[in-house]
Amino acid sequence: HAKEHDQVFIRYTEAMKKVTQSRVELENDMRKALERNEFFLEYQPQFSLQSGKMVGMEALVRWNHPKRGLLPPNEFIPLAEDSGLIVPLGEWVLKTACQHNKKWQLDGYEPVCVSVNLSMRQFRQYNLADKVDAILKEVGLESKFLELEITESMTFDIETALNQLQSLKRLGIHISIDDFGTGYSSLNYLKSLPIDRLKIDRSFVKEVMLDGNDAAIVSTITTMAHHLKLKVTAEGVESEEQLEFLKGQNCHEGQGYLFSKPVPARVLESEFLSRLAG
Ligand code: C2E
Ligand code: CA
Ligand code: CA
Ligand code: CA
Repeated sequence: HAKEHDQVFIRYTEAMKKVTQSRVELENDMRKALERNEFFLEYQPQFSLQSGKMVGMEALVRWNHPKRGLLPPNEFIPLAEDSGLIVPLGEWVLKTACQHNKKWQLDGYEPVCVSVNLSMRQFRQYNLADKVDAILKEVGLESKFLELEITESMTFDIETALNQLQSLKRLGIHISIDDFGTGYSSLNYLKSLPIDRLKIDRSFVKEVMLDGNDAAIVSTITTMAHHLKLKVTAEGVESEEQLEFLKGQNCHEGQGYLFSKPVPARVLESEFLSRLAG
């Protein structure tokens, strides 16, 4: 028995070593990737459910890895968070998204808001608002065309969150709560924090036509958002039926494969911005 156990243990250790090695490798690669311009952004358009008009877009980062090919964020964002690289990467995302948005405005397209995801590490920085302000000024983008997405877990320390959000709101940008409903936090923060929007997590939207509980949750979030005078966006809208349900709930905006997958900047321009009256 002891031998068998040793064998299993050795195999386990070898496997763990490989995982650690590939993590370290990927982390080293990531350090160089920013300088080598291997990251790029895709944009997923967001639509008003009443008018069907495009009203904004979310910037989503991708990594064109020289050996591994195209990597989705879930394969490197957690690693970037652990290593701290998320801070420079997050700043690159923010600046690049603002630059694209400014360029589109200069090109004469109707101005829309761009949403950028913030990580916990970024949110904890004492000088975050100054950094955001500096980027907006450098790029020349008006603050009302930027929205930052935070998650419920970032509101856990409510005093710190309040200070940070007040500094950000003073700039004139918008704040949304991403993946709403999936965090473990209480709803207490909703009445005390200066937020503008709830984004209903796509896990609730997914089965809204099949699961009465999901339908009840979506309906309750939407109603609550209206009472709190918050905007509400549904994530992961994939079917006409879901769209009709959400419209019936007076959900303001939607984002999802039914409208469009995330697309490269030039596709957002040719397929979506160019169709807006401007
Ligand atoms: P998220 O912020 O919730 O972004 C929405 C994700 O849902 C995107 O995945 C998008 O492609 C996907 N999605 C959109 N519509 C649909 C749909 O109709 N059906 C389905 N099944 N999926 C849909 P993506 O691009 O893989 O991003 C995953 C996560 O990575 C994001 O989730 C966000 O948490 C994180 N992320 C992406 N970019 C950044 C970034 O620049 N900074 C930080 N901190 N996190 C990022
Ligand atoms: Ca998001
Ligand atoms: Ca989300
Ligand atoms: Ca369900």
